[in-house]
Amino acid sequence: MQNAKTHIKVNDRVEVIAGGDKGRVGKVIRIDRNRGRAVVEKINMIKRHTKPNALNQQGGIIDKEAPVAISNLMLICPKCAKTSRVARKALEDGTRVRICKKCGESVEGKA
Ligand SMILES: [Zn+2]
Repeated sequence: MQNAKTHIKVNDRVEVIAGGDKGRVGKVIRIDRNRGRAVVEKINMIKRHTKPNALNQQGGIIDKEAPVAISNLMLICPKCAKTSRVARKALEDGTRVRICKKCGESVEGKA
């Protein structure tokens, strides 16, 4: 499986570090590793014109998140609440986790 190196995962809290939404924070909804892009809740909102359908009987304009470059996102450590680079570490059972370089704690959410 081709798996470009990404430092973020779905459900991570991230801060936008470049572009129009710089400084804003959101939760990662979707990641497209092949394109190096991620969709983040309430970030990079675009207006999309829709035709009426079963879900939206009126049609019209809806706000929707557009993907942003993963390189423009920085993980927020859930433990120390700072944007942080992550290190990778293998646990004794072989599970690989990401470690916050600032506080040294795992940044993985409890699954
Ligand atoms: Zn931390």
